[in-house]
Amino acid sequence: MLATQLNHMIATNLIGANTIVQVEQFMSNRVKDRTVIILLNVHALRNEPSRIGDPQDIEKAQIATPGVAPSLTSAPAAAAVPAQPLYNKTNYATGSSVPPVKTGSPNPYGGPSRNPHHASPVRSSHAPIVRDTVNGTPITNISNLNMYANKWTIQARVTSKSDIRTWSNAKGEGSLFSVELLDQTQDVRATFFKEAVDKFYSFLQIGSVYTFSGGRLKVANAQYNTCQSNFEITFDQNSEIHLANDDGNIQRQHYEFIDSIAGLERTEPNTMVDLLAVVQAVGEVATIVSKKSGQELTKCDLTLIDTSATQITLTLWGDKAASALTDYNQQPVVAIRRARVSDYGGRSLSLSGSIETNPDIPQTAPLQTWWRTQTANGGVTGKSLSATRGGAGVMESLEQRQTIADIKNNNLGYAGDKPDWLTFKATVSFLKKDKEGGSWYPACANAGEPCKNRYKVTQTTDGNWYCDKCQGSFPTCVRRWIFSGVVEDDTSSTWVSFFNEQAETLLAGATADQVYAETYQDQQDQDAYDSYFAKANHTEWIFKCKVKNEMVNEESRVKTSVVAMQPVDFAKESRDLLSALAKF
Ligand SMILES: [Zn+2]
Repeated sequence: MLATQLNHMIATNLIGANTIVQVEQFMSNRVKDRTVIILLNVHALRNEPSRIGDPQDIEKAQIATPGVAPSLTSAPAAAAVPAQPLYNKTNYATGSSVPPVKTGSPNPYGGPSRNPHHASPVRSSHAPIVRDTVNGTPITNISNLNMYANKWTIQARVTSKSDIRTWSNAKGEGSLFSVELLDQTQDVRATFFKEAVDKFYSFLQIGSVYTFSGGRLKVANAQYNTCQSNFEITFDQNSEIHLANDDGNIQRQHYEFIDSIAGLERTEPNTMVDLLAVVQAVGEVATIVSKKSGQELTKCDLTLIDTSATQITLTLWGDKAASALTDYNQQPVVAIRRARVSDYGGRSLSLSGSIETNPDIPQTAPLQTWWRTQTANGGVTGKSLSATRGGAGVMESLEQRQTIADIKNNNLGYAGDKPDWLTFKATVSFLKKDKEGGSWYPACANAGEPCKNRYKVTQTTDGNWYCDKCQGSFPTCVRRWIFSGVVEDDTSSTWVSFFNEQAETLLAGATADQVYAETYQDQQDQDAYDSYFAKANHTEWIFKCKVKNEMVNEESRVKTSVVAMQPVDFAKESRDLLSALAKF
């Protein structure tokens, strides 16, 4: 920390990132378990264009190599450093006996690290201290950008690009998009407005490297900007952006991986995390309607697992969801950049950044090896943080299945406002089909918002159907199944509710409209109606249910609703049972 009386050195740009200083006078303070050195008198000696060596947090470095002073550590790879000293032209006026340049970094994975923060000595020796120049213009590191230098050129990889968004307010309207740029030092967010959108949007491609100049800096808003740089950049139509030669020195993506999935159990909701994991299973690709925007969204849930033998569900959206089955069916290692932690049904993740398959980073191979070993030994008995998750996407595995008796035994449905979820295998033993006029309700014919064929309509005297929700009157309605039934397994039995989609599954795809037309419309054919239910009775399914305590007529009761169901695949069931038995 710089003493207050020296603040002018920052303001006048005498000291910035990578300035070499001579410390004349300092004091050491303990502040909340951290040692802080306060510089009382320093001289700026010179400004380096980039960071020298590989300095690390001394406390973290000591944990990594207990008992060894990290600045004195010399990794075996140091032998590969050419005889010529790296920084022989630098005059270290400090006269310190401790070499300021660390010659090797302990790399837990052996090979040279691609992480710019753990650059191996071999790579450093080839990296020029003064970065490349482009047409005579020196390249500034993103970490060296500051408000006092307004002419700079950075060379960076586009690691993400947003869609074009438009805004409209009292001041006018326009469009914008943003990108994230990464070089060997840091990543930074950059935004393009109006004319710059037209000029640069299609030119900038994710994964390509460009030189950028003519941007303006402002202090980053930490709420929306999770890049490492303290600044963000605005480019306009006069900014200069050119495709640059990609020499591979800049990583594909910057990751700050969390230690393990297990740790997410204690992570606050809405936290953004980076994660390296194996895709254990790909769920169904489903289309849902966003409650917020009313738009249709494609989603797909991946089940992720890592060496902590803990699973978590990651939801992909849009194009990434649509291609998930082909992209991830080989159980690849994936590097996830920015997934939002949700406490929906335990803990789950939703991707808001990028996902990279089998990334070219040192951590990938050990994880692949671990996964191969696990699967060769009969699979992993993982604990899932998302086991109680709702939604139809992922059916729990055999190990995570429960029984009907668990509903009562575990007092499901009484956990505050949130429902409980459980999956069990059971047989249908009774279906309550004998409702006056058929076991369905008339829903609004309006297939768009806000009704989407969901809301109940009432028939008016003129024969039309009136909807309270959209206040529309329609000559027809859409019938939706709604009935209850009893399912049982070898532990107990329970009443469950079947709503339209699950009822259609149960009744071999028969829609309520179809059965109505066949058995009610012209003349009532009770036998034909009953036969649909008779075929469904005594069938065996894996049910996923929502269990919630509800007040009905001032009486509390537990309501169990089927949210997803699938027929028992007896071959798969047998394989799963054999592998579960093998683990005893
Ligand atoms: Zn309606």
